[in-house]
Amino acid sequence: MPTAIEYFKFLPKTNCGECGHPTCLAFAMQLANQKASVEECPYVDEEAKRTLQESSAPPVRGVTVGAGEGSFRMGEETVLYRHERRFVNPTAYAVAIPDVLPAEQLKALAQSYLDMSFERVGMTFDIDMFAVFNASGDAERLRSAAVALDGMCSKPLMLIGAGAEDLRPAAEALQASRPLLYGADKGSISSMAALAAELGLPLALRDGSLEGMAELVEAARGQGAEDLVLDLGSDSMRHVLERNTVARKASLKRSFKGLGYPLMNLVGSGEEAMKLAMLSTMKYGSLVVFDSLEPQQALPLMTLRQNIYTDPQVPIQVKQGLYPINGPGEDSPLLFTTNFSLTYFTVRADIEKSRIPVWLQVVDTEGLSVLTAYAANKFGHEHVAAAFEASSALESTSGPVVAPGMVAKMSGKLEEAVGRKVLVGPMESGSLPKFLKNLGV
Ligand code: SF4
Repeated sequence: MPTAIEYFKFLPKTNCGECGHPTCLAFAMQLANQKASVEECPYVDEEAKRTLQESSAPPVRGVTVGAGEGSFRMGEETVLYRHERRFVNPTAYAVAIPDVLPAEQLKALAQSYLDMSFERVGMTFDIDMFAVFNASGDAERLRSAAVALDGMCSKPLMLIGAGAEDLRPAAEALQASRPLLYGADKGSISSMAALAAELGLPLALRDGSLEGMAELVEAARGQGAEDLVLDLGSDSMRHVLERNTVARKASLKRSFKGLGYPLMNLVGSGEEAMKLAMLSTMKYGSLVVFDSLEPQQALPLMTLRQNIYTDPQVPIQVKQGLYPINGPGEDSPLLFTTNFSLTYFTVRADIEKSRIPVWLQVVDTEGLSVLTAYAANKFGHEHVAAAFEASSALESTSGPVVAPGMVAKMSGKLEEAVGRKVLVGPMESGSLPKFLKNLGV
């Protein structure tokens, strides 16, 4: 990616401010941080724009699979390590559905995966894609299975077949839904790439060697297929780690365009598949395909993905506001906490456990936890009082106000600010059920 100085060279240096930044250098710094677009300066000429856009294109091409609500992006990564900036597009998880299943069984299997949904710190996790594979060897059967799955959900599909002729009927029928075609190898690259280019669909290539894959990429591009996904094999943990890492390093560190595409792994099922899937999630896999997946396997995997793909500079937050828990009334206690998602959901779960009706005021602390926000002067009595005011919290209840034990110090000033008695709650949220029961409200 160009540095701020490299961007600066192309700017007019008049500091007119029309881009919304006080100087051209300030604008260049925003460009380098990917927080602005070169289009925002009306004075950059077209040739400079083209040069800048080409040099700032992500070294890993972005590929969209699916259309509409369930579609997702893969690739567009710019760093090897999350802490350098952030990872962009989370690993997607697909499960395989064989086209040999009778229609009812096929739908029942798909529905069981669609029902596999989890909530964690305010986010919903579920399966991202179905991989329909042509186990029957009959192109018409693949088409009818794919059409049935496409009709029952908005999830993108991956169509797996031995060659272009097996995939063509399903690919044509679902062209508007933008399925991913899998998987072109040395023998089928020409016809598969031609099919992908003709229908404008993304294409997955498979080859266990880096050199072989680079050749397939060149061949696919030569046929006009640009949206590619690379499967370098998943024989073992070592294989996945080595191939995925070398491919990603080659594209990011050596600007080698031949491997600058999203990576995928077909991991099978069972315990070994989980290890491979976790490794792929941690090491640059954009898509992991399972033969089957159980809920007890999916939840830890999706939690791992959430941890890796959150922006390390932007904590997950909930909205400031007054949240009723367990059906509170006019005299229920009023607790408050910060808008750091993990804090909010922990406190909420502990209050729910108590079964005692409570109003919980969430204060916007820019996603900081209680002690950090207090130390950063974002969670003082004045912030809490302002949040109460904004949500009319004190009008909603005449019950006691309870401050988190960790910020007991603010209780005196908060009492003065809100004109209400402030009790000090426990240090740890886990003690809230006992504390609330002892309140006797
Ligand atoms: S609009 Fe262009 S010329 Fe004006 S300050 Fe911004 S970058 Fe500089």
